[in-house]
Amino acid sequence: MSNIIDLRSDTVTLPSPNMRRAMNDADVGDDVYGEDPTVNRLQALAAEISGHEAALFVASGTQSNLIALLCHCQRGDEYIVGQEAHTYKYEAGGAAVLGSIQPQPLRTKLDGSLDLGLVERTIKPDDIHFARTTLLTLENTTAGVVVPQDYIDEARLFCRDHQLRFHLDGARVCNAAVAQDISLDTITQCFDSVSICLSKGLGAPVGSVLCGDKEMIEQALRWRKMLGGGMRQAGILAAAGIYALEHNIDRLKDDHDNLQALVAGLSSIDEISIEEGEANTNIAFINIPDRDDGALQIFAENQGIKMSNGTRIRLVTHLDITPTQIEKVIETFKSYYSE
Ligand SMILES: *Cc1c(COP(=O)(O)O)cnc(C)c1O
Repeated sequence: MSNIIDLRSDTVTLPSPNMRRAMNDADVGDDVYGEDPTVNRLQALAAEISGHEAALFVASGTQSNLIALLCHCQRGDEYIVGQEAHTYKYEAGGAAVLGSIQPQPLRTKLDGSLDLGLVERTIKPDDIHFARTTLLTLENTTAGVVVPQDYIDEARLFCRDHQLRFHLDGARVCNAAVAQDISLDTITQCFDSVSICLSKGLGAPVGSVLCGDKEMIEQALRWRKMLGGGMRQAGILAAAGIYALEHNIDRLKDDHDNLQALVAGLSSIDEISIEEGEANTNIAFINIPDRDDGALQIFAENQGIKMSNGTRIRLVTHLDITPTQIEKVIETFKSYYSE
């Protein structure tokens, strides 16, 4: 393990020796022919644990969400989505560019939910002036916050009553399940489709899985090919994904505990304010005084600690960060502020 303590993201994790061994030993074949046994095993496993009929291994979370949007929406349709959601703000406008699908962003509440009354008023009537509203998407976790399960249940019924499809950007949905001590499928079964990242807290080097019913995943396979995402002996990568799903879900609790310890340690420093309610999984946001922007980060970097720049800093724990390293981070912040 490297000595650098990288708090910028949970995407920075390196494949562990056991994960690399699984990759090395993977049986492979040409997945465009459907003949890679390891890819097929990953897809079956993802379908099983998410409670969906089928799943597709894709290159990234962005590709996974885009394929889901392409499956659910036709040209001239729209999807309702959070203003800060990854599927709206951080995916380069792919749905609009490649799908002719219009986003209808709405303000998200602090718990990641969208006000269903507002969603209802936003659904466009069947009228030639309007795009057709066909899909609602949520993100869980969102900025590290677990979306309340009661809300998801309510939103599921809402979508059924309003004939909307329902997609989850579940890049970190395993964190949400572990944080609530519920099974993954309790969350994921509420949706018509779910995208799960293997390369965030789960620690795989590459990939996401898109889960849904058989018919949708068949369509998704065509879209993936069109987007250039048909890979050949991809079992080398899928083996890491299987390893991640089998070994790295339950241990996400360690990341959550490490984040709590970090937040508790930093909360004693007067100059730092920790954003309330945003620390129930592996992500916290802290605010530092303007004068410290850059200086604090350089001080930390000299101690081997990497953080993003700015006065609002996102701190993320993950499987390459230990409790001892958390203590070192707290000590480093304290020594910066005691000088
Ligand atoms: C990381 C992430 C994605 C997917 O990102 P890729 O970098 O394309 O894998 C999607 N949604 C959320 C909320 C994410 O954090």
